[in-house]
Amino acid sequence: MKMSACWAEERFCESGSCKYILAVCLAETIRRWEETAMPILADYHLHSSFSGDSDTPMEKMIEKGIAMGMETMCFTEHMDMDYPYSKAEEEGLFELDTESYANGFERCKEKYGGRIRLHFGIELGIQPHLARALEAYAGKYQFEFVIASSHICNGKDPYYADFYKGRTQEEAYREYFQSILDNLKVFHDFDVYGHLDYVVRYGPGKDRDYSYDRYKDILDQILYRLVEGGKGLEVNTGAVPHGLRELNPCTDIIKRYRNLGGDIVTVGSDAHAPERIGEGFERAADILKSCGYKYYTVFAERKPEFIKL
Ligand SMILES: [Zn+2]
Ligand SMILES: [Zn+2]
Repeated sequence: MKMSACWAEERFCESGSCKYILAVCLAETIRRWEETAMPILADYHLHSSFSGDSDTPMEKMIEKGIAMGMETMCFTEHMDMDYPYSKAEEEGLFELDTESYANGFERCKEKYGGRIRLHFGIELGIQPHLARALEAYAGKYQFEFVIASSHICNGKDPYYADFYKGRTQEEAYREYFQSILDNLKVFHDFDVYGHLDYVVRYGPGKDRDYSYDRYKDILDQILYRLVEGGKGLEVNTGAVPHGLRELNPCTDIIKRYRNLGGDIVTVGSDAHAPERIGEGFERAADILKSCGYKYYTVFAERKPEFIKL
C-alpha cells in the first residue's frame, strides 16, 4: 500500500498537475493493489544458495520478494546433520556453512533492510539421536526463527523409492509420523514444525488414499504435543509444484491443530528459486480462514507476532 501511494505521488510531482489527478492516481493504484494483493506478505520458509539444493543467490531472492510487494522474508537455510548420503548427493551437501550464511545475510540486510524486513532463520532436519547436537547448534547462533523438519526417517530419506520398498504406503507413512513423534519427545528448541505430512509428496500414491482421518490416531498425538508445548504449525505451500491435492499439511490437520487450541501458524513457500516465492499464498489464506483462524504468525527474535488475515 505504501509503495503504491508513493508511486502516485511521484506521478503527481512529475506531471505538476492538480490534486484531482493525484486522487485519481491514488484510487487507480489502490484498485490495482487490491486486485493483485497477496493476502499474506510474509514468507517464512525460504532457501538460497547457502542451502545445498539451491543455486539462487540470496540477493536475487530478496529482489524478487521486494518486486512482489513482500513485507517480510525469513530465510531458513537447510541444516541436516547426519544425512544418509547416497551416490546422488555430494557428501556434506546439506551441512550448512553457518558462518558464511550469517555473513551473507548481514550483507543483504545492510543492502536491502530499508526496503523489506529480513529475518535470519534455520530449517533443522531433526532426528532423535541429534537432539543434543541440534540444541547446541541452535544456541550458538542468533536465529530469529527455527523450523523443525523431518527429512530423514530412521536413517532413510523418504524422497527415495527405497523408503517404500517391500511394504504398503500406509506402513511407510506411519513410520514417518511415528518418527516425528519420537523427535518431539526429545527435541524442543524450535518454533514451528515444518511440512508435517511432507512424506505424502513422495510416496508411491502420493496423497491418494491419504487423509487426516486415516492417520488421526498418530497425528493427534503429534498435534497434542505441539499445542501443549506452545509450538507452531507451518503451512507449507511447497506442495503446489508436486501436484498434490492439498498443501502440507492437509487442511484437516490445520483445522485439528486449531480445534486443540493451537494458534501459531506460519506460512512458507519453501522456495528455492525466485519464481516460487509466495506461491499458493492466496490458497493458504483461504484455508486458514476456512479453519477459523483470524491471524497468521511471524517471528522476530524467536517470539511470535500475530498478523490479521
Ligand atoms: Zn524441508
Ligand atoms: Zn525447506
